[in-house]
Amino acid sequence: MNDGLTQCDCCDYFALSVKGEWEICPVCFWEDDRLGEVIEADIKSGANHGLTLRDARANFLLLGACCREMLPHVLPAEARERLRYAPRNL
Ligand SMILES: [Zn+2]
Repeated sequence: MNDGLTQCDCCDYFALSVKGEWEICPVCFWEDDRLGEVIEADIKSGANHGLTLRDARANFLLLGACCREMLPHVLPAEARERLRYAPRNL
C-alpha cells in the first residue's frame, strides 16, 4: 500500500504528507518538529509546548492524543482506522 504519507513520530500512524515541516498530525496533534530520532525522544519540544516525544507517545497510547489539551482536536477513531499504522517501541 502506497498512500504517500509518512509516519508520525508520536502516534505511529502514517498521517503526515511530508516529514520535518512542522506539520501537525491529525491523529495525535503532535507537531512534527524532527525530534523523531530515538536518541532525541527525551528532549523537550518547543513546538509541542515543552512535551518530550517519549511523554507524547505515552499520552497518545493512554488518551488518544499527544496531550490532554489536544484531545478535542484529534481525528475520531473511525477516521483514524483508514490510516496505515505501524507501532514502534522507543
Ligand atoms: Zn501523530
